[in-house]
Amino acid sequence: MQCIKTGYDETRLSYGIKDTEQLEPTTPKGIMVMHTTVKRNLVTSAFLMGLGITPVLSENLSAQDLSPNIGIVSFTLDDAYKNQHTNALPVMLKYKITGTLFIPTQNVGDRTDPDSIVMSWPEILDWKAAGWELGAHTHTHPYLTKLPETELNAELGYSAALIWRHTGTFPVSFASPYGDFDDRVLAAVRTIYEDQVSAWGGLEGIGDGFNALSSVDVYNIGRLGVERDTKVEKVCADIARAATEHYWLVLEFHQIVESAIPGDEGKYQIPVGNFEQIAKCAAEAAQNGKLRIATVQEVLKAALPTRKSTSLTKPSE
Ligand SMILES: [Zn+2]
Repeated sequence: MQCIKTGYDETRLSYGIKDTEQLEPTTPKGIMVMHTTVKRNLVTSAFLMGLGITPVLSENLSAQDLSPNIGIVSFTLDDAYKNQHTNALPVMLKYKITGTLFIPTQNVGDRTDPDSIVMSWPEILDWKAAGWELGAHTHTHPYLTKLPETELNAELGYSAALIWRHTGTFPVSFASPYGDFDDRVLAAVRTIYEDQVSAWGGLEGIGDGFNALSSVDVYNIGRLGVERDTKVEKVCADIARAATEHYWLVLEFHQIVESAIPGDEGKYQIPVGNFEQIAKCAAEAAQNGKLRIATVQEVLKAALPTRKSTSLTKPSE
């Protein structure tokens, strides 16, 4: 029996002892910790109840000494590609970097399917074990602004429920696919998630991915998309700037591959060698004490401690 989580964190609602067996589909109903905003969302609640969930919220809230007076970098990986598990996870472990993985749940595959280009749930649990935050990225990866209300709520709620069901973590952070969101989408996002990252954007005049912790809009966090044609030197310079000028830089990656293919098809691929160089830049700055590396959730919790909006509800058996 592998202990995944024990204890109760009253600040963020972690509760109970979970073992791998309890995460199997046959899990009986156990301790239920509900998110107050989730309870308000009938669509989500229906899914959660129907799935007999035994959740643990917010696993890795280490007491990192984050403050608005230092630079911070967050690594975020979108879409849960298997090549992220194969190529990026070893690099992240080597440099002891934790970040946020944004998972579109529909395609999460079976470990035994050799053709799946998306990670399996056990592979996603490897990231959790490595200290990564698990964030949501809808179920089917649609353009959210085009969806009617019911489908919008289902995309948001069902993905959260599945992540909770399969990993024991209720996702706190959300990424809209294609950066496609508007006020209506964000209103729905707010009923379930505590933050939303964009696919681009940042401080005007400073650059994509740069956020000021003192004034960050937690439902429109800017990210720098690191793509095949993005120069490593540019990203490392941005990391250095975040360290010296005390910004929060959020990096966004998609596929991490041996070598990126040319043309539009490989636009969102970056070679693992480039990924490692970027990781090294961040790790060295962190080692020099100039920078903290943290998950999106950790940053917001530390920078905006008054944002807490959760409470504990015991299960109704
Ligand atoms: Zn995506």
